[in-house]
Amino acid sequence: VREHWVSKLRSGLNKTGASISGVFTGTQIDEALYEDLESALLMADSGTGATAYLLDEVRRRVKDSGVTHPVAVKNILTDALTQLLKPLEQALVIGEFKPTVIMVAGVNGAGKTTSIGKLTRHLANEGASVLLAAADTFRAAAREQLEVWADRNRVEIVSQEGGDPAAVSFDAVSAGKARGKDVVLVDTAGRLPTQLHLMEELRKIKRVVSKADSTAPHEIILVIDGNTGQNALSQVKAFDDILQLTGLIVTKLDGTAKGGVLAAIALWARERAKASPGLKPVPVYFIGVGEKLEDLETFNAREFSQALLA
Ligand code: GDP
Repeated sequence: VREHWVSKLRSGLNKTGASISGVFTGTQIDEALYEDLESALLMADSGTGATAYLLDEVRRRVKDSGVTHPVAVKNILTDALTQLLKPLEQALVIGEFKPTVIMVAGVNGAGKTTSIGKLTRHLANEGASVLLAAADTFRAAAREQLEVWADRNRVEIVSQEGGDPAAVSFDAVSAGKARGKDVVLVDTAGRLPTQLHLMEELRKIKRVVSKADSTAPHEIILVIDGNTGQNALSQVKAFDDILQLTGLIVTKLDGTAKGGVLAAIALWARERAKASPGLKPVPVYFIGVGEKLEDLETFNAREFSQALLA
């Protein structure tokens, strides 16, 4: 029997030693408890903004409800965190467009290629036909890795040695249309937000894909490594500036990730929605909880909060 993802997530989060639940073992609610809670949230990668937000929220709710035992504070925090994370909980919908064109970006090592393999499996399980586009035209190893995932999932792949990543993406979307595919998944080369010419290349891929299909790309997903804390948040901001993201996959939450970064992302997403109400939201479509094909789970705010605070 496969280990349930919540238990993998929980054991991953517990490995960090940054246990938030340890804060609630005392007998009274006092300033020391709030100080410990602040440290624990920061240690868990929540960042200063989300930590301050959650602390305020918890203080207010504790006052309003008149509870007196730390365990009640833990429940209040679980609820507040769940509420904060809830807007990130949204399903990836395909079927509105044929094909649904999904661009996937990320820094090297984030788990992008692995996540594309997993996502292909997930979509295939739902009965969708998938075409992969290897838009990383420069690294042979990247292409080969994607070919392995294509083989494993028995799906077609459009790949080309060298050449222009935008041109390969254009060809793949055209092929996806011609062959009646449900989804075209475009794998882009890993890059850092500081590599401006490569960020510009992403913008070009997006633009050229829209020439093959004026409604595409329908989704622009950033893959981030859940282990990288506030760094992951800066990646989200930087890629969003260039591409206007429509979703995230957060990987490696089965390892030593601290999980609080989701709270930081949720706060960012909330501020983004306020500042730019016209933009599509940026939910967490999936989380990665292992290296195998099936280790991809839809994000659930309450389960995640409970795992984080267990
Ligand atoms: P890319 O450079 O972004 O394409 O990254 P890869 O897909 O090659 O993944 C980098 C490493 O992270 C590989 O060893 C993967 O097996 C591993 N990896 C990816 N996702 C996960 C995950 O959710 N959990 C764990 N434990 N490892 C992962």
